Amino acid sequence: MQEPLTPAPFSPTSPSTSTPISPIALPPTILEPLTTGHYASILIQRCPACFGGTVFGRPLDEGGDIHITTDGNFHHHHRHSAGDCPKFYEPAYFLPKLEVDAVGCQINKVRKQIPRVVKGLVPDEAIDHYQSSYQAADGKKQKATMDSFDDTGVMALICHHDIPPFFANIDTPGEQQKYAVALIQHLYSLLPLQTNVILLYDVGCVLSCSLAQYDILPDSIVSCLRFTTTAMHVYGHEWACQLVYNPRMANGLSLSDGEGTERLWSRFIRLIGIQQSSSVRD
Ligand SMILES: [Zn+2]
Ligand SMILES: [Zn+2]
Repeated sequence: MQEPLTPAPFSPTSPSTSTPISPIALPPTILEPLTTGHYASILIQRCPACFGGTVFGRPLDEGGDIHITTDGNFHHHHRHSAGDCPKFYEPAYFLPKLEVDAVGCQINKVRKQIPRVVKGLVPDEAIDHYQSSYQAADGKKQKATMDSFDDTGVMALICHHDIPPFFANIDTPGEQQKYAVALIQHLYSLLPLQTNVILLYDVGCVLSCSLAQYDILPDSIVSCLRFTTTAMHVYGHEWACQLVYNPRMANGLSLSDGEGTERLWSRFIRLIGIQQSSSVRD
C-alpha cells in the first residue's frame, strides 16, 4: 500500500527568484483588555452567528472580532425611463442616498488637503498602479450606461456567512470609495466600541491607503479596521501588495476568502433583466 502524500509546508516565494521570503511582520499589536457589550439588534437579526458575540477587542492580527466583505455589482441597475413607483415603504436594507452623498462630500473635502505621508509595508507605486488601472477600466466601461440608467449598480456589505446586513445604491459611473466608506461607517454606528473588523474588498489595499492619508473616517474607526483584498482578486495585484493584503498570507484570516459577494450575486442573478437579445439574423 502506498504511503499517503504529505503536502509540503507553504512558504511564499518571489515569482522572479526562488529565494524564500520571510513572512511579513505586522505592526506590533497593543493588547487592550477585551470589553463586553452587544451588537445592535438589527445586526443580530441579520446574522446571529456573526453578531451574537458579547466580548470585543480581539486583536486584528489574530483575526479580529468579525470578518466583513464589500463589493459592487453593475448589473443591478435601474432605467431612467422606468420611473419610480409611489413611495410606500422605508427600505430596510438600503442606505439612504443622503447618507451616501454626505460621505461623498466629506471625501471630496478632505481630498483637497495635503495627504499625510504614510510609511506602509507596500511601496506606493504598487498601490498607485492598481488604483489608476482599476479606475480607468471601470470608468470607461460604466460611463456609457449613465445615459440610460439612474442607478447604475448596487454595493453590498456581507458578513462571513454571505448574509448582507446592508446595501447602497450606486449612482455614479464607477465604483467610487464613498459607497464602501458609507457602508463601513453605517456598520460602525451599530457596533460596540473597540470592535475589531477585518474588511475584505477587491481594492482593500487602495482604500486602506486612502484612509491612512486622509481624514475620511474618524481615528476611532480606522484604528479598529484592517483591510485585505479578496482571495481570488488579489492575483491581479502587484506581488508587493499580495504579500501584505493577500488573505491567504495574512495572519488570523483563516479560510475567509472575501468572495462571498460573488456567491451573493450568483443567487441574485434572476433579478437581472435580459440586456441583450439575439435575432434569427444573429
Ligand atoms: Zn454571519
Ligand atoms: Zn493592491
